Amino acid sequence: MKKILMLGTGGTIASEMTPEGLTPELRPAQLLSYVPAIKDLCQVDCLSLFNIDSTNITPRHWCAISRALELNYHLYDGFVISHGTDTMAYTAAALSYMVQDADKPIIMTGAQKPINYDSTDSKLNLTDAFVCACSEELAGVDIVFSGRVILGTRARKTCSKSFAAFSSINYPDLAILQDHRLMCYISPRCRRKPRFFHQLEERVALVKMVPGTEPELLDFLLSRNKALIIECFGVGGLPSYEDSRLLELVERHTAQGKFIVATTQVQNEGSDLSVYSVGHSLKGNPYVLEGFDMTTEAVYAKMMWILAQTRDAEEVNRLFYAPVAHDILHRG
Ligand code: ASP
Repeated sequence: MKKILMLGTGGTIASEMTPEGLTPELRPAQLLSYVPAIKDLCQVDCLSLFNIDSTNITPRHWCAISRALELNYHLYDGFVISHGTDTMAYTAAALSYMVQDADKPIIMTGAQKPINYDSTDSKLNLTDAFVCACSEELAGVDIVFSGRVILGTRARKTCSKSFAAFSSINYPDLAILQDHRLMCYISPRCRRKPRFFHQLEERVALVKMVPGTEPELLDFLLSRNKALIIECFGVGGLPSYEDSRLLELVERHTAQGKFIVATTQVQNEGSDLSVYSVGHSLKGNPYVLEGFDMTTEAVYAKMMWILAQTRDAEEVNRLFYAPVAHDILHRG
């Protein structure tokens, strides 16, 4: 029988109703008591890392999860991480960079309704997560939710209330589950040795452009951070408005070693800065990178992972465009 470690972090799945609203209360072993059939699938050990709403997750929590995976990696065949849905895609992306070339399944799941509600998706998601954690076909970080297996670098929460809360962006689902039976379309098995990374650079910021965004906002964010991710409009580009203040501040900050990643606020199909003249001015600067088909969640986590290792522009470019866990397909 396979040995699986379940790591509890909180979220709706573990929540109970309190006078202040839903609050994470249940630990992993208590969650498992609602789904006794999991005992027939595998032998499970539990570790409660923390019990918080995922709104309160920070990069330090990502480091704690990754550390727990590293310490226990050799002892188990697979891992299930129960987590709030709101920031699960960010955690899945971060873990995909912190635990690379994993040859075992690291499955994240959660629920839109607490496990003690009659109409809950928790039991289905939890059981499916264990089926996937026991699988020989899956490896690396995935989100398992509402019968779908989504690559950790490609996941996004796209519905705030429906059970089918997650989508795979610019990449197909890896597998589906029907009646807890796993059907794999893509099997990303890894034959290399897993590599664990421990540091993240937290001074990475993200801004979404709106019509009329003041250059001062970008100036402030760039002065406070080592990198700024800009969610541009459409395939990408920065407004020149009536003057060129925005482009001038990009030049000023990048000359001082700050990095900018231009990506798109459009969910599907990615960026292409070469299309419009408003994007052209950004091309060719080694401190300006382009997100292409990556999710913003993945770009954010990848920059934190890269900048913890180097600030050399050539090396940052090499690491950024080198695919990790299928996070990028289109590279210009
Ligand atoms: N606010 C909750 C959380 O992210 C929502 C959920 O788990 O579905 O922890």
